[in-house]
Amino acid sequence: MEKIAVTTHSRAEFIDITSHVNRVLEKQGVREGICCVYVPHTTAAVTINENADPSVRKDIINELDRLVPWNGHYTHGEGNAAAHIRATLVGSSVSAPISGGKLALGTWQGIYFCEFDGPRRREVFVQVISRE
Ligand code: ZN
Repeated sequence: MEKIAVTTHSRAEFIDITSHVNRVLEKQGVREGICCVYVPHTTAAVTINENADPSVRKDIINELDRLVPWNGHYTHGEGNAAAHIRATLVGSSVSAPISGGKLALGTWQGIYFCEFDGPRRREVFVQVISRE
C-alpha cells in the first residue's frame, strides 16, 4: 500500500489527486487491474467528478453547505459534526479500473480529496490489485 500526503488550506476544499494516484501506478508498474483510493479520516472523503470546470466543485461544496449547515443542532461535542456528516455522505473510498498503466477515468473525471474540517495535513491510502 502507498500513502499520499495531502495538505489542505481551507475548511472545505476539493483537491485533485489524480496525478498522484497515477504516479503510484507508474511506480508499481501495474498495467491492468483495479485501484482503490481510501481516505482514513472521519471528516474528509474522496470522490470522482468533473475535472474541467472548477465551478462544479464549488457547486458541490455550496450544496453540501446548504444540506449540512456548519452550525446545525448537532450533539457531537467536538463541534465538527457537519464535517463528519459530509464525510459519510461523500464516502471514504473510490475504486477505478487501471488500463494501460493509468486510471481508466472518463475524459472529464478526476479523483478529488474532499476536506471538510481543514486546514489539516491528511493522508490518502492507495492499494492496487494487479491482474497480471
Ligand atoms: Zn468530531
